[in-house]
Amino acid sequence: MNWKRNIQVLDLEPTDRLELLCRKCGKLRWLTGEELLNRPDAKYLWLEDVERRARCRQRGCGGTMRMAMPGQDETSSFVGGIA
Ligand SMILES: [Zn+2]
Repeated sequence: MNWKRNIQVLDLEPTDRLELLCRKCGKLRWLTGEELLNRPDAKYLWLEDVERRARCRQRGCGGTMRMAMPGQDETSSFVGGIA
């Protein structure tokens, strides 16, 4: 199941934080629920669409971003290390 297709910006809490990682240069930036909720054009987007539209802000990069939400990462790449 892809959580990005099941969560709409409207469902987010202002305090929620999403992680956006640039696929090209690896730059990480945080997107808050508040930031998204304040954008009238973003309100009805699914997180999948937000991810698709996100672009790296690093000068000269403009790469696409990979979205992750702490605790909801479907790749579970680090879970084994904690247990
Ligand atoms: Zn980048």
